[in-house]
Amino acid sequence: MLIKQCFVTFLIIVSYISSIFFCISVNANENTRADAIIELFKTNKPASPQQADSLLQELKTAIATDDFLRQKEYIRAKCWNQKAETNEQILGAISYANKQLDIFSPYIPSKITIDLTLCKTSYQRLLGQVDTTLQDLTNVINQAYTIEAPLLIAHGHSQRGTLHSYQGNYSASLEDLLTAQNHYESLKLTYWANINLGELATSYRRFGDAKTALKYQLQLEEIYKTEGKIFEANDINIQIASSLEQLKKLDEANARYRVSQQFLVNKQPVISADMSINIANNLISLGQYNRALILLQQAENTITPEFNAPYSFLQLYLANVQFKLNNYPASLHALQNAEEAFIIDKNQRGLSKVHLLRSNIYAADKSWQDAYLALRNHLHVHLAQDKSVLTKLNAELQTRFDTDRIKHENTLLVQHAKDKEMQLSMLQRNKTMQIIIITLVGIILILVSIFAYKQMHHKHQFKKLAFTDELTKIANRRETYFQAEKFLTFSKRNQTPFSLIFFDADYFKLVNDELGHYIGDQVLICLADIASNVIRSGDIVGRVGGEEFIILLPDTDIDTALSIANRLLTTIEQYEWSIISNDLTQTVSAGVVSYQEEKNLSELLLKADKALYEAKAAGRNHVKTC
Ligand code: GH3
Ligand code: MG
Ligand code: MG
Repeated sequence: MLIKQCFVTFLIIVSYISSIFFCISVNANENTRADAIIELFKTNKPASPQQADSLLQELKTAIATDDFLRQKEYIRAKCWNQKAETNEQILGAISYANKQLDIFSPYIPSKITIDLTLCKTSYQRLLGQVDTTLQDLTNVINQAYTIEAPLLIAHGHSQRGTLHSYQGNYSASLEDLLTAQNHYESLKLTYWANINLGELATSYRRFGDAKTALKYQLQLEEIYKTEGKIFEANDINIQIASSLEQLKKLDEANARYRVSQQFLVNKQPVISADMSINIANNLISLGQYNRALILLQQAENTITPEFNAPYSFLQLYLANVQFKLNNYPASLHALQNAEEAFIIDKNQRGLSKVHLLRSNIYAADKSWQDAYLALRNHLHVHLAQDKSVLTKLNAELQTRFDTDRIKHENTLLVQHAKDKEMQLSMLQRNKTMQIIIITLVGIILILVSIFAYKQMHHKHQFKKLAFTDELTKIANRRETYFQAEKFLTFSKRNQTPFSLIFFDADYFKLVNDELGHYIGDQVLICLADIASNVIRSGDIVGRVGGEEFIILLPDTDIDTALSIANRLLTTIEQYEWSIISNDLTQTVSAGVVSYQEEKNLSELLLKADKALYEAKAAGRNHVKTC
């Protein structure tokens, strides 16, 4: 019983201690450096591709292979920071995204799948896969709304807005970019808000409002320069140049294009060559055809057809300059290339220009029929564009009107995200509280168990004391009589015999007087031991007086009781008493009785007392019965 109690207590202690350790080990999963890098990738873009590479490398080594959450973040960051300057690199980046997406198939929208798709589309776009890209973007934006991920919603809108803007879908572009802007600002993601603002400014420029565009762009340039973000500052420099170009400040525009062309010449040769194309276009407008032609021909070495977007404009400007230089076949040839590239990109602005130039070439060549057809194509595309511009103007008004709704929705979304964050922190707090409560309950249980154990132990001790004779450790008078009553009742009920031996130390007073009380006590202890050894299991020996003992013999007839008494006397007489004290001898006298017709225990004890008296009278060391 006691062992069981101890075992249960032990189990409780072990389980609580292990649960506490479990809770602690769950919280111990910290990785500050890795988290800092992950945060950096989320809120910013590394200052240079080299920095991105070294951060990715550091992140990779900082994350344990079984730390799946952070491994996901690493995959996301790696996808967004792939090199994408050549066709091969772009295909490599797309294949990386696809490979990672495959890991999460069957596809269930989650933050990582959405982000990887966004990353993939950013590369797809560079290959001119506009339809697929738009479709993919629309899908993931919807998914991002479903899982309520504001950052991904913002990235999705920003990317789609940028693409719409490039294609000339200004109202759709503004709607997307304004939505993204609201999200970025609400999320306080200044870096992405600024990048998106740059795209918004570009859209304004393409829409014809170069002044507004320039205003935003100059602000952004100031910010990037102050922050030392040279890549972003360069991007905005290019956009400023475009706005200046539109405002007919061609020399200023070219000066800026040249700065970027130099900046990028070794870092991103394709974009650097793209700058040369822009410069050439302005030179054409300034009448400097030969300089323009040289620049464009140089650019052709870098900008091959695989770079569809810059290639389309390169061919258009080549056609233009060849036309100005009266090389009509070369011009028509370049125009053909441009047309094919614009069709791939679905660039209506470009196509309209292609048809107009072709009409002019045919007209100059006096091919009136072809000139007429080309002009008709131009008008067709131009009118369609005009119409769409008109509907888009109307749509833009709606967009601005809708901005309030979008703002409201965004506020709700951000509020929702905040609520979730609060719930999370409450959960975290609850977890801590749980640990404290578990610990306290554990401690209380341990204390209660110890207390209960002590109580039980005391109770057991008290019980033992209440039934035991303190000196001899055998049953005391109360317990002996109690057991005797029980045996007697049983015997009466079952007609079985019951005997008892009443024995008393002979001349014990002398032992005390001559050898001292201590030796007397040792003799009493010895007598109790001898009697306990003589009896059978089931019999009980108890001390009922100073030097008086009773042996209870259930289911024992008088003859057996007498022989037990005789054996007891012999054993005591022959005991080596000198061990206790030199010259010490000790005998006992015993009265033996068996239950017959006695009414109660007192009557039986009286008979036993009588028999003992007779044994004493017979000279002691005798057994008598009556
Ligand atoms: P008898 O043979 O007639 O029984 O003589 P007796 O001396 O044994 O009988 P008596 O009743 O005169 O003396 C009993 C003595 O037992 C008296 C008392 O001092 C002693 N005694 C009683 N209880 C204890 C005890 O717990 N320890 C010790 N050392 N002596 C005790
Ligand atoms: Mg005596
Ligand atoms: Mg006596």
